[in-house]
Amino acid sequence: MVFNFLKSSYQSLKKVLAKTGSLLGNKIRALFVGEIDEESLEKLEKLFYEADLGVQMAHELTEKVRQLHRKNSKLTGDQLLDVIKNEILKSLPPLSSIDKKSVPHVILIVGVNGNGKTTSCAKLAKRFKDAGQKVLLGGADTFRAAAMEQLELWASRLQIDMVKGSAKSDPAAVAFDALTAGKARGADVVIVDTAGRLHTKTHLMQELEKILRVCKKVDPHAPHEILLVLDATTGQNAIDQAKTFHQHTPLTGLILTKLDGTAKGGIVLSIQRQLALPVKFVGVGEGMDDLEPFDSTQFVNALFE
Ligand code: GDP
Repeated sequence: MVFNFLKSSYQSLKKVLAKTGSLLGNKIRALFVGEIDEESLEKLEKLFYEADLGVQMAHELTEKVRQLHRKNSKLTGDQLLDVIKNEILKSLPPLSSIDKKSVPHVILIVGVNGNGKTTSCAKLAKRFKDAGQKVLLGGADTFRAAAMEQLELWASRLQIDMVKGSAKSDPAAVAFDALTAGKARGADVVIVDTAGRLHTKTHLMQELEKILRVCKKVDPHAPHEILLVLDATTGQNAIDQAKTFHQHTPLTGLILTKLDGTAKGGIVLSIQRQLALPVKFVGVGEGMDDLEPFDSTQFVNALFE
């Protein structure tokens, strides 16, 4: 079963991209109005690069346009844009939605502090709740009292059940309690927030591995999703973080936050390509409704409209 209600909103994606001035379609069309020559192709590559599509993708896409133009100089700007869009989509990991394999469906949220992990847990919980799903939140970031209080505050405002540990208690024990409670209370989804202090990297990774083992005691298939929260405004740093986490915890996807704070929407595409991991949600603001399921096709269409 697939969570069909997790549909992406084209309009809100477009609004965020427009607000940050990262819509590329019109800039590229303006470039293609005149003669397509080496100069305009160079400008095209620069546009791709500035949008954070990454050096390699920027180069490959420009090369594709160059070849096509050589073969057929009558191609219009819109036709070339279509080719660009298709090339990008072809290079991304396949579109995947959240598959609901067992009940409760367990989602582990990991990531470095400050990336928007706790906020994303609450936003995600709200989305499921609004769709009529029974949600339970697990507060396993026992190291940060403030984070746990923040999640508790969201949980009470949203009227969502929460299981939390006491300060400095074992995060794996909290995850175990949350899953057990989720099962006993008939929750459809359990979302577990975890700690993210990277300065004690080895410890953090061991802690995450322990959480994984403990989840499996309650349900051998849990967690069904491990989503890494990354901050879109941190560029290459986000990619390095993802590589570290992925080595220790088999990530199933990404939540890319603060897309509203970057003029480089292309990061969503280059991150997926470099990590071969799908972006499942994007954060587009600080409000509880500012989380959008991510759909590459819609995103590429919005970016190049
Ligand atoms: P954590 O340390 O990873 O748990 O991060 P928090 O959830 O506490 O978020 C850190 C800050 O980022 C908070 O001020 C959030 O409001 C903000 N934040 C989270 N997601 C987004 C987003 O999508 N857009 C914007 N503009 N701010 C966000």
